[in-house]
Amino acid sequence: MKSPVVSMRNLNFRYDTRIVLDNINFEIPQGAFMGLVGPNGGGKTTLIRLILGLTKADNGTVEVFGQPIQKLKDKNKIGFVSQKANSFNKGFPATVFEVVLSGLTSQIGYFRFPSKKHKQKVYHAIAQVDMTEYAHENIGNLSGGQQQRIFIARALVSDPELLILDEPTVGIDYEHVRRFYELLHDLHQQHNKTLLLVTHDTGTMTEYATDIVCLNKTLHFHGNPEEYASLTEKDFSNFYGHPVNLVSHQHS
Ligand code: ADP
Repeated sequence: MKSPVVSMRNLNFRYDTRIVLDNINFEIPQGAFMGLVGPNGGGKTTLIRLILGLTKADNGTVEVFGQPIQKLKDKNKIGFVSQKANSFNKGFPATVFEVVLSGLTSQIGYFRFPSKKHKQKVYHAIAQVDMTEYAHENIGNLSGGQQQRIFIARALVSDPELLILDEPTVGIDYEHVRRFYELLHDLHQQHNKTLLLVTHDTGTMTEYATDIVCLNKTLHFHGNPEEYASLTEKDFSNFYGHPVNLVSHQHS
């Protein structure tokens, strides 16, 4: 059996006295496309920060690629696209190429010049997200959906095995959301990436994900899309902590 990419055991996390994550146990299997859903304040961003090693748990363990995250040397194995990635204003003084190249800073060094190999990696990542014709465009001139693809390229340029995306579809129009999922599907199927996607867009996500996790302080559900589809209104009401109308939930 393949070893999991992420493994959390008996994990607890608090901000001051407030319990944010309570006894979390779960694994992200290698090759999974995992959708992480839950209400605002449910602890999704905190969970991601723990996987990235940006925050330390009060108790329990977080292992990534079989090692405690604090000991993981090759952080390039994890790519991250944050919520606020697609918000560059017009006139921001960087091209698509430069933004994607910045994803290699840890490999190149701050004051060194990129080699031919580094540049090839940048063009390859831009091609992976189907944005080659915009490579020398100013990032601020692109739409939100296009900028988002560039930030995915920036995360991909160091060839991570695990790609984490925090609510990347917020503020993106429907057509780009669909294209975005097709891009993720391609990265998952053709390029063997393991994906962890935080999203509110449960409708589209369940068409592509292999695993779904529902988090609201505790882990309420972890299963495949068929099992998720069989959850009842009562399950969702328990999960969200208030009555949920399933019809409107599935269309939200
Ligand atoms: P989600 O991503 O699911 O919206 P978060 O992980 O951002 O949830 O937040 C979980 C809880 O932790 C919330 O109650 C939030 O108010 C609290 N929280 C998040 N960041 C901080 C912080 N820096 N200091 C104190 N509380 C925080």
